[in-house]
Amino acid sequence: MARKDDVKLKEKVVGFRGDYYELTPQAHHKVKNLIYPVPNPDFPFLGVHFTRMTNGEIECGPNAVFTFKREGYQKTDFSLTDTIDALSYKGTWKLFFNNMSFGINEYRRAFSKRLFLKTLQRMIPSLEPGDIRPGRAGVRALLLSQDGDTRDDFRIEYHGNSIHVLNAPSPAATASLAIGDYVSLEAEKQFSLK
Ligand SMILES: Cc1cc2nc3c(=O)[nH]c(=O)nc-3n(C[C@H](O)[C@H](O)[C@H](O)COP(=O)(O)OP(=O)(O)OC[C@H]3O[C@@H](n4cnc5c(N)ncnc54)[C@H](O)[C@@H]3O)c2cc1C
Repeated sequence: MARKDDVKLKEKVVGFRGDYYELTPQAHHKVKNLIYPVPNPDFPFLGVHFTRMTNGEIECGPNAVFTFKREGYQKTDFSLTDTIDALSYKGTWKLFFNNMSFGINEYRRAFSKRLFLKTLQRMIPSLEPGDIRPGRAGVRALLLSQDGDTRDDFRIEYHGNSIHVLNAPSPAATASLAIGDYVSLEAEKQFSLK
C-alpha cells in the first residue's frame, strides 16, 4: 500500500513463520507466569518462550523459519509468486548468510518435536514429550533492509495525506494501544486536526 502511495522504500517485507506447541493439561502446573529467555542481540528473533493465554492454555514457542507463502500457516504451504518475490530480494539472501546456522537449526526444530522440546527444556528441564502437543502458527511480516538487517523497531512514514505503519514487530501486539495513541497524535499534528 505504501508503494502504491508512492512512498520510496528500499526495504522489503518478508515473511517468517513461527510454530507453537502448547502444554498438555498434565503439564499446566509447570508454568504459572510468562517465562522468557534473555534475548540474544545477535539474532533477529527472541527465541522460544512460554506464554500463559487468557483462556488458560499455555503456548510454547515460537521458532522462526522463512515461509514460502505470505499467509503460509502450515509447514508445507507454498506459493511460487511469494517465493520468487522474497528470494529475488538480496536482503533475504544476506539475512540467510548472516544467520546460516541459526536458520538451519530453526528448520530442524520445525520438523522435530524432540529438538523443539530440547530448546524448551533449557527453561523447564522437567518437560517431557507428553507435556507438549502441536499448536498454532503465526507469520511475522519483517521489514528487511538490502543488507539483510531486520528493522527491529517500529517504522512509521508520513506521506501526503497518509500515515503508513511499515514495521510493527513484536511487541507490537502488547504495545498496540500505545501505538494507536501515538499514530492518532501524529495524525492530529500532520493533518492539523486540532
Ligand atoms: C509467531 C509470532 C509471535 C509474536 N509474539 C509476540 C509477542 O509475544 N508480543 C507481541 O507484542 N507481539 C508479538 N508478535 C507480533 C505481533 O503479532 C505483531 O507485531 C502485530 O500483530 C502487528 O500488528 P499489525 O496490526 O501491524 O498487523 P496484524 O496484527 O497482522 O493485523 C493485520 C490485519 O490486516 C488483515 N488484512 C491483511 N490483508 C488484508 C486485506 N487485503 N484486506 C483486509 N484485511 C487484511 C489481517 O487479516 C489482519 O487482521 C508476534 C508475531 C508472531 C507472528
